[in-house]
Amino acid sequence: MNVILLGPPGAGKGTQAVRIAEKYNVPHISTGDIFRKNIKEQTPIGVVAKSYIDKGQLVPDEVVIEIVRLRLAEEDCKNGYLLDGFPRTVPQAEALDSFTKVETVLNLDIDLDLLMKRLTGRRVCEACGESYHVSFIGDANTCTKCGGTLIQRSDDNEASVNNRLTAYTNQTAPLIAYYKEKGVLCNIAAAGKIDEVFGEIEKALG
Ligand code: AMP
Repeated sequence: MNVILLGPPGAGKGTQAVRIAEKYNVPHISTGDIFRKNIKEQTPIGVVAKSYIDKGQLVPDEVVIEIVRLRLAEEDCKNGYLLDGFPRTVPQAEALDSFTKVETVLNLDIDLDLLMKRLTGRRVCEACGESYHVSFIGDANTCTKCGGTLIQRSDDNEASVNNRLTAYTNQTAPLIAYYKEKGVLCNIAAAGKIDEVFGEIEKALG
């Protein structure tokens, strides 16, 4: 099962990815998570990535393509994978096609106007990555799943979110046509509740 989760920032890719990976038993590969881990560990990749991520810009293709190429060559991807946040540009999609066969692209379809509020109010658990929203949790800062501390991502501020939405529209949205043409695109209505969206995904994956 070689699956890609496509969609704008804040559409719920990470949230759905955790559930898909668990149910279908495939590794969840999030390029955003890989970058955040590198930033935390202050690796050379992390230092480069941080300068782009904090501004809400995409990390250069050559950096991210090499990371994914090496990750997909690992043993646990032998029977499939779930890519979350990659590809984000047409050159990334073309590179991916050169080293693997994409079977299904789940396109999380949502009105972009909903996303600014979702993202600037988002809080994530530093330890397990679970997402929350201030409109539900208020000032609480402890993860109810694992007890970790809730933080605001450094790119979930208004200026960075604006840039991320622009990057999505200009660089990532063309991938919808790219995968439609290849006959692998499944549109998933993503504005609803987490369980409802997951139900749509289960139907699409069969
Ligand atoms: P995410 O966690 O998927 O929202 O990613 C956070 C940030 O990491 C993005 O706004 C980009 O700056 C960077 N990033 C993640 N994946 C990619 C990618 N495939 N190409 C370029 N930049 C990426």
